[in-house]
Amino acid sequence: MNFNTALLHAGEDRKEAKGATLPPVYQTSAFQHQSAEELAAIFARKKPGYNYTRTGNPTVTIFENKITKIEKGLASVATASGMAAIANVIFTLTNSGDEIVASNGLYGGTYYFFKDIASLGIKTHFASVNDYDGIEQQINEKTRLIYVESIANPGLEVADIEELAQIARKHQIPLVVDNTIATPYLLNPLEHGANIVINSSSKYINGSGSAISGVITDGGNFDWKQFKNSSFDDYLIFGKLAFIAKLRNSFARDMGACLAPQNAFLNILGLETLGLRMQKACSNALKLAEWFKENHPEVVVNYPGLSDCPCHETADKILNKGYGAILTIRVGSWQRAFALMNNLKLVFIISNIGDTKTLIIHPASTIALHNTQQEREQSGIYDDLLRISVGIEDVEDLIEDFKQAYEKAIEAESQTK
Ligand SMILES: *Cc1c(COP(=O)(O)O)cnc(C)c1O
Repeated sequence: MNFNTALLHAGEDRKEAKGATLPPVYQTSAFQHQSAEELAAIFARKKPGYNYTRTGNPTVTIFENKITKIEKGLASVATASGMAAIANVIFTLTNSGDEIVASNGLYGGTYYFFKDIASLGIKTHFASVNDYDGIEQQINEKTRLIYVESIANPGLEVADIEELAQIARKHQIPLVVDNTIATPYLLNPLEHGANIVINSSSKYINGSGSAISGVITDGGNFDWKQFKNSSFDDYLIFGKLAFIAKLRNSFARDMGACLAPQNAFLNILGLETLGLRMQKACSNALKLAEWFKENHPEVVVNYPGLSDCPCHETADKILNKGYGAILTIRVGSWQRAFALMNNLKLVFIISNIGDTKTLIIHPASTIALHNTQQEREQSGIYDDLLRISVGIEDVEDLIEDFKQAYEKAIEAESQTK
């Protein structure tokens, strides 16, 4: 099945659903059984089945199966949020005393998470995503994983997954990739040698901003027998699936950040149009980026689809079918950035991304507020920078809105002078 067909048809048993074209929402906390023996067998994992929605639910399973299919992995686990997915992955791979090597300029929530777990004895070292020597220098015998974003938010560096996978393989540690911004439409990190993929499905996968969720996909392509973490010993019997088996049977269960069945359903609905939405949003983003460059050369535009973007070459090598739907612009000053935002009529001022609607934020005063100046600049965040998550509106309307808002922002300045 090709991508769009899989979105519509993979992972569902319509006979089981009495022919319904959409999956039933199993809105239940627990599952009743025919006999004491049956429930005992499910608990002992001798029989497949559900017992409690925190550890599994049929609607959630359909969502997980669809993601496994489109990420080209072996198995997935869905969680209550993208951050819960990240926490599950990190706690499954590390023990106190272990270390992580991560790229600079990560999504703010992830960055704060890595800083916070230092108090648990898990230390993270940072390096620029395409500085392979810098990354390798940070790896030592305590390192348990390399963590990167395929397209960084909001710096928009594109990770060369193949180069990074080579480093990870050499050191016998897994490469974990947050694929939220690229989505499985533009990139399947597992095909390029990554071992574990995380998606915050709150974003493009859900698509309409109707539910928070995350999902972890195991590529089944890492040899866990050689992994230097003894807490994997009990799970080696699962072979290729040792990681996802450990995750599902330990932290996913223990932390309890399970995906609600209703939210799984909303994600399944959203997934149907992921390909169409990404196609339109990527095309709109490229047109908006080009419009700014042509009409306002004083505005610094960062978008992986522009030939003068530092990451354009890697983007061409790694991404299929488009360059993502996020761009950033530097408009000259903090004041002008605020004035532009305040004059937009169509575009929402919002901290989210990946909606059908176009969204804008001023990162320095919001999502990067608690970072130091140096941390901000390493993430490509400047006082005059705006991040735009481009939606699927008619692009002429978007351009018109940015045109009038930018002109008004400039006009306001000349009046105060
Ligand atoms: C939003 C986001 C997350 C966190 O996901 P939530 O669903 O908000 O918890 C992680 N990584 C990236 C790149 C994101 O954009």
